[in-house]
Amino acid sequence: MSEEKTWLQEAGDNTRLCHLGHDPSEFYGFVNPPIVKASTVLFPSAEAMAGRNQKYTYGTRGTPTTDALEAAINALEGSAGTIILPSGLAAISVPFLAYLAPGDHALVVDSVYSPCRHFCNTMLKRLGVETEYYDPEIGADIEKLMRPNTRLVHLEAPASNTMEMQDVRAISEVAHRHGAVVTMDNTWSTPLYFRPLDFGVDVSIHAATKYPAGHSDILMGTVSANAEHWPQLKETNGTMGLCGSAEDSYQVLRGLRTMSVRLAHHDKSARAVAQWLSEHKDVARVLHPALPSFPGHAIWKRDFKGASGVFSFVLRESDPTRFSQRANTFLNALKLFGLGYSWGGYECLAVPVNLSDRTIRKAPTDGPLIRLQIGLEDVSDIIADLERGFAAIR
Ligand SMILES: *Cc1c(COP(=O)(O)O)cnc(C)c1O
Repeated sequence: MSEEKTWLQEAGDNTRLCHLGHDPSEFYGFVNPPIVKASTVLFPSAEAMAGRNQKYTYGTRGTPTTDALEAAINALEGSAGTIILPSGLAAISVPFLAYLAPGDHALVVDSVYSPCRHFCNTMLKRLGVETEYYDPEIGADIEKLMRPNTRLVHLEAPASNTMEMQDVRAISEVAHRHGAVVTMDNTWSTPLYFRPLDFGVDVSIHAATKYPAGHSDILMGTVSANAEHWPQLKETNGTMGLCGSAEDSYQVLRGLRTMSVRLAHHDKSARAVAQWLSEHKDVARVLHPALPSFPGHAIWKRDFKGASGVFSFVLRESDPTRFSQRANTFLNALKLFGLGYSWGGYECLAVPVNLSDRTIRKAPTDGPLIRLQIGLEDVSDIIADLERGFAAIR
């Protein structure tokens, strides 16, 4: 794995993103790494084969293409090692399988990405691991939930859909005192806006499907661990036979080159739309960490360097029996916003949010919750489209 050059380590985010991962001098001077499609790698002799003492040994164990992406992510995360997986969800399930064993207790934030909860409640349960959900705003009080067998504490901030913030440093500190590994889903921020390992997290998880890929055409997950927790992660990954494809790794590295420019634009536009929504009479609340009115704003301001393009709002409606009808009428009137899952691509998306699996942070009572991904379109067109939705519910 090529190490980040010293001059690059000290450079700004845009500079680093342009030069991370691949060293052109290692491949005939070409600016981009080769897309190496591989299963078999040849050895020069039977002795070399027995010793496996060469850089590449088999396609599942890494290629120059996956190495380039892993090196870039390590440099961004400040991690000792990164694994590449076929989806963001696999980037949650694989580290959980790496660090948990039967009889263990895991603490997972209640506002977690919902398929993570499904994994815990089904597969982890079947494997004899007990999952307990905790309030995202628990902070150092997580101490009260720690048990002698608590092996893993999982965070996600801002929360999926409801955007609650977490005091990452305080929670990590308590978890470590009790011998638990701390994992965090950092997909919303990317390592440009938050670096979990700098705040005590051991393992940083990303759906690279989102901003790193950036164009709604790739599924990929990355998991980056500190030196203490890297060997176990790497070992589990090899045991399970998981690896990332050459083309997708190449495309995600390509996406990283423009990620800070795209994110800055998503951030600016999303804040403008959030502000506009917060003044709208048909909106009960806007859930965006950069709005000073948002409960988690102080933590966001203290710990995060920026905001990405995803946030939610509550459409004002007093009668709970009318929530879903009101959300559907609003969403069906949109033309520019696509109705579809995922986010991080260049285009605006909207989804009605279902929080029926929450046990602590339940669905709002002041109206239906709608999540928006603000794309790279012009803000005036984005607002005009949302106006279509509000016109439809009037
Ligand atoms: C989308 C998402 C994932 C899963 O990523 P996929 O590549 O779609 O499996 C995980 N965590 C968060 C926070 C996400 O938003």
